[in-house]
Amino acid sequence: MGRLRRSRAHHARRDVHRASRTRARVKDLDQIQLIDLDPKNRAALEAQPLDYEKPGLAQHYCVECAKYYETDHALNSHWRSKVHKRRLKDLKQPAYTIEEAERAAGLGREGKRPTTTTVVAAAVSEMEVIADT
Ligand SMILES: [Zn+2]
Repeated sequence: MGRLRRSRAHHARRDVHRASRTRARVKDLDQIQLIDLDPKNRAALEAQPLDYEKPGLAQHYCVECAKYYETDHALNSHWRSKVHKRRLKDLKQPAYTIEEAERAAGLGREGKRPTTTTVVAAAVSEMEVIADT
């Protein structure tokens, strides 16, 4: 039997292996949401000093995508692109926090249900009161 190809699995990503490369590691969505999109940090990122190591001397940076562009034209056409719009949609989702992970694992402080240790401690002190009388 031949391979059953999933159609349209790559969307607009031409190089699907790029994401798995460590040297091409980009910022995670939560880093962008919690740090870069802060107005103070955003202004600093948009007005970076000339950097000869970065594409376009670090003068054309997309904060949402954490990407450098060569020219203003490239950056502008990127803002109108599908990749950028999808990124904006992803960034609207709330960031995944440690609290959420703990809640999922049942470690959160949401429910005020007493833990077993406090139940035991209460039972022990009750017995002590009975023993005293
Ligand atoms: Zn972008």
